[in-house]
Amino acid sequence: MKPPRKLHIKSYGCQMNVYDAQRMVDALAGEGFVETAHADVADLVILNTCHIREKASEKVYSELGRLRAAKQEAARNGREMKIAVAGCVAQAEGEEIIRRAPVVDVVVGPQSYHHLPQLLQRATHEGRAIETEFPAEDKFVYLPQPKPDAIRARGISAFVTVQEGCDKFCTFCVVPYTRGTEVSRPVARIVDDVKRLADNGVREITVIGQNVNAYHGEGVDGRSWTLGRLLHRLAEVPGIVRPRYSTSHPSDVDETLIAAHRDLPVLMPFVHLPVQSGSDRILAAMNRKHTVHDYRNVIDRFRAVRQDIAFSSDFIVGFPGETEEDFSATLALVAQIGYAAAYSFKYSPRPGTPAAEIRETVSATDMDERLARLQELIDSQQTAINRAAIGSTIDVLFERAARNAGQIVGRTAYLQPAHVMAPPDIIGQVLPVRIDSLERYSLLGELAPSASAHFSRPESSQITIGA
Ligand code: SF4
Repeated sequence: MKPPRKLHIKSYGCQMNVYDAQRMVDALAGEGFVETAHADVADLVILNTCHIREKASEKVYSELGRLRAAKQEAARNGREMKIAVAGCVAQAEGEEIIRRAPVVDVVVGPQSYHHLPQLLQRATHEGRAIETEFPAEDKFVYLPQPKPDAIRARGISAFVTVQEGCDKFCTFCVVPYTRGTEVSRPVARIVDDVKRLADNGVREITVIGQNVNAYHGEGVDGRSWTLGRLLHRLAEVPGIVRPRYSTSHPSDVDETLIAAHRDLPVLMPFVHLPVQSGSDRILAAMNRKHTVHDYRNVIDRFRAVRQDIAFSSDFIVGFPGETEEDFSATLALVAQIGYAAAYSFKYSPRPGTPAAEIRETVSATDMDERLARLQELIDSQQTAINRAAIGSTIDVLFERAARNAGQIVGRTAYLQPAHVMAPPDIIGQVLPVRIDSLERYSLLGELAPSASAHFSRPESSQITIGA
């Protein structure tokens, strides 16, 4: 029997990439590959790239520089190492990668992962292989299902892609170009995936998509189902105690999604709802297709049906043309909403996007200063929510052993990490925890007889907007 070949995947960026990395592992398991945490000993290294963050392609090329040395060392030891570039940078700049980086054997776009075994064979016979087309077939139909032991090894929380691509064309974003138009998977296939996960110990699923609430997959009745309807169905799968979804667009929040939060106690009351800016002028320049008023309205609709709901968001600071007045409007919106968490970044242009053509840029100093003020405000809100948990008893889904001996770590409904001293057999269970203290962003406590309501939204009056 041939010894297994070693596969190392380095994944960047969003949860879609985390999920895709797992599916690539599944696709290559049939070819005799097993995962390794060390690139140096791998027979195949895949860089699963992200195009969203700043200087994405430069980071890929500098990583490829490091891998070239590892590949040369492997060759000196009589071993072949193949290198593949996957993900959104591969999709956007595939030909350029092939031209600039001779060390790369395979370039594969996100819609073609099911072709990885064939691409590796082609690279062996022809030297190199590239596939960045959007194939006619659905990759999910062809990707092999994960084996039960692989599911168990990945833990009690899993992502399931239900939707890919985006039709929104925000002017700063590459996703519509790298992931294509919105496509939704049929309900029956998603339910099968979730059942398989639940049968193998998964307790929490996050259904994901670039624009997940634009979901419009074929339902079991042959009609188009919304995300709200899909969530109702997934909440019925035995073993799934915490369904979640991400990432949502404010304009696609429909009444079925609001109703799901009203009617499904297991649906976690924590919604990632990016807004990007609190200025209508900038939202229009970003082509976000909603105003600040629309966004507040959506938040109010969620809060009307679920008092304990919390929100996280994404913000871009220093979008071309953003004035101090625009930025103050963003701070005002953050102060008004009160976020449990948020991701904020300085604007950086993505080649090929309309915003990259705008000449009216914001200085680096202004961007740094605005980002610091925004992050200070968001941090104060997150800390206020975490502090409010002290003294209350909260349901925690336990995930794994913590680094500190004897501790088990889990997450609250709002994804706050919570640590207790307990035996490992609580992993996979939702148990009440009495919160005693806060250490940075982690809650510390002990198992308690029963949970009490704890969520406390920071009031705008408690928050100081930066200077
Ligand atoms: S909604 Fe906008 S930011 Fe989100 S994936 Fe689509 S184009 Fe990109």
